[in-house]
Amino acid sequence: MKLTKFLNQNQLSLSFEVFPPKTDTAFDSVKHATEEIAKLRPSFMSVTYGAGGGTSRYTLDIAKNIKANYGVPTLAHLTCVSSTRETVRARIADMREAGIQNVMALRGDIPKELENADRGGWDYKHAIELVRELKESGADFCIGGACYPEIHPESENQKEDIRYLKEKVDAGCEFLTTQMFFDNNLLYNFLYKIREAGITVPIIPGIMPITNGNQVERAIKLSGSFMPQRFKSLVDKFGTSPAAMKQAGIAYATDQIIDLFANGMTNVHVYSMNKPDVAEAIQRNLLDILG
Ligand code: FAD
Repeated sequence: MKLTKFLNQNQLSLSFEVFPPKTDTAFDSVKHATEEIAKLRPSFMSVTYGAGGGTSRYTLDIAKNIKANYGVPTLAHLTCVSSTRETVRARIADMREAGIQNVMALRGDIPKELENADRGGWDYKHAIELVRELKESGADFCIGGACYPEIHPESENQKEDIRYLKEKVDAGCEFLTTQMFFDNNLLYNFLYKIREAGITVPIIPGIMPITNGNQVERAIKLSGSFMPQRFKSLVDKFGTSPAAMKQAGIAYATDQIIDLFANGMTNVHVYSMNKPDVAEAIQRNLLDILG
């Protein structure tokens, strides 16, 4: 099923994100975790794409398994920046052959060793080129893209970031999923600005439940997200106690999601990180709200 089919409805729903294993040996345990999450019957599950494409086969294997055996629609991620055109075209052909209907078109992070490299000769510099490549492939994919309520860390300013986002949508993105954020007001301000800029596609807010004190630093470093004082206090108080931090992180994420639903968002994407217990706890907290 194409995701746009339900994103344009008013039904409240949760979707979950999982990531593929890095090695064959980890495949079975990751597959099991993703199956446990699929049993929760989310609106869809997204499967990330490992930096540089080393795990591309697993992304497809996991996505195919969830769809075929659990009937959960999937969204397969694909990145382009450190790949050649030939490789990307081959990945697109693989997706088509695997019956993937929904693709998240991403640039990918610039590998550390290439941060200062001359990008002039690269086949892809931005996600928009992947969106165009997917469109030109002739396959009827439903294409999503990433967006950043707190602006992309490489952007000069939000106006420029939103201008490029509009170009990406105009090239063929049918929905956008946000980077994680811990203060919903940042999303509401962003929504106002992008709607004003003429971006009208559905926006899926991405919520990361922080359930482990050690996760905080890495998550903030990767995303550049602002940490509200309320969240900082919670990490300061419970960060060293795994069980307490898990409970507090799930409660914080639940609270964010309820506020998002109350303010008109219909599908919230949970960065569930292959943790069925966390996905299940959040879903249970929202049982009557989701109906
Ligand atoms: P782009 O849309 O290309 O934007 C990147 C930067 O370039 C922005 O600053 C933008 O303003 C600027 N820009 C865009 N177009 C132009 C242009 N034409 N000219 C000049 N500047 C331009 N990474 C993975 O490796 N695997 C994943 O599975 C993955 N999933 C993700 C899912 C979500 C929801 C999000 C938010 C991120 C994900 N990422 C993933 C990380 C993502 O790859 C990085 O954030 C990356 O740095 C940017 O990707 P993008 O697709 O947003 O890039």
